[in-house]
Amino acid sequence: MALIKCENVSIGYEGQTVVRNLNFEIHSGDYLCIVGENGSGKSTLVKSLLGLKSVEKGRILYGDGLRQNEIGYLPQQTDSQKDFPASVYEVVLSGRLNSRGIRPFYTQADKKQAWEKMDMLGIRDLARQCFRDLSGGQKQRVLLARALCATKTLLLLDEPVTGLDPIVTAEFYQLIRKINRESGIAVVMVSHDIESAVQYASHILHLQETALFFGTAKEYEHSRVGRTFLGGEQHV
Ligand code: ADP
Repeated sequence: MALIKCENVSIGYEGQTVVRNLNFEIHSGDYLCIVGENGSGKSTLVKSLLGLKSVEKGRILYGDGLRQNEIGYLPQQTDSQKDFPASVYEVVLSGRLNSRGIRPFYTQADKKQAWEKMDMLGIRDLARQCFRDLSGGQKQRVLLARALCATKTLLLLDEPVTGLDPIVTAEFYQLIRKINRESGIAVVMVSHDIESAVQYASHILHLQETALFFGTAKEYEHSRVGRTFLGGEQHV
C-alpha cells in the first residue's frame, strides 16, 4: 500500500488548471524528487499534498499509516521566516503543533522529541540561540528538526537548499539521505537541481503541468526526458 497515491489529479486556480491528470505513488522508504521548471506546478502540488488546496479532479489517497497532518514539512524559505524572533528550541518544538490537537501546552513527550531531533541533527548546542542569528545551513537543520518532530513517516521539503553554498548544500543532501536510509522516513523533495536529484533520490517525478516522467532515478537517467534535461538542453 502506498503512503500517498495521486490518481488522475488535476489542480487549478479559479478554473485555470495548472496540474493535469497526474498519477504517481510514494511508498514507505522512497526518496522522491519532484523536478521541473518554474511555473510547472510543483508548489501547487505540494499545497494539495499537505491538504492546503483541494484538487479539481481525481484524488489523493493516504495510506500505510500516514495521515495528512503527519507530514513533516520544510517550507520554501521566505524572508519573514528567516527573521523569526524565536529560539532554536522553540522553532523545533513548534513542529509538534499539528499533532498537539486541542491541548493548550506542549507535553513532556513533545519536549523530549524536540531534544531528540536536535541531537540527531547536531544542533543541541544551538538550542538557546535566536533562530534569526544562525547561518543559512544551520537554519535549514533547525527547520529539518522541526519537520522531523511532526512525522515518523514522510518528510516534504520544498527547495531546501536555495541560497546555501555548495559545501553546505552537499552536507544537507547527505543528511537527508542518512535520515531516509537509517530512519526509513520517506522523503519528497521539490528541487531545481536535477543532477543532485538523480544522484540522491530513488524516484523522480518530472513535472510540466503533468508528469513528463515518473519512475526510478535510474530509469530517468536513461529516459528521453532525463537525457535531455541532464544533458543541459533547454527543451524536450
Ligand atoms: P512551481 O512551483 O513549479 O514554480 P507553481 O505551482 O508555483 O509552480 O505555479 C504553477 C502555475 O500556477 C503557474 O502558472 C503560476 O502562475 C500559477 N499559480 C501559482 N499560484 C497561483 C495563485 N495563487 N493564483 C493563481 N495562479 C497561481
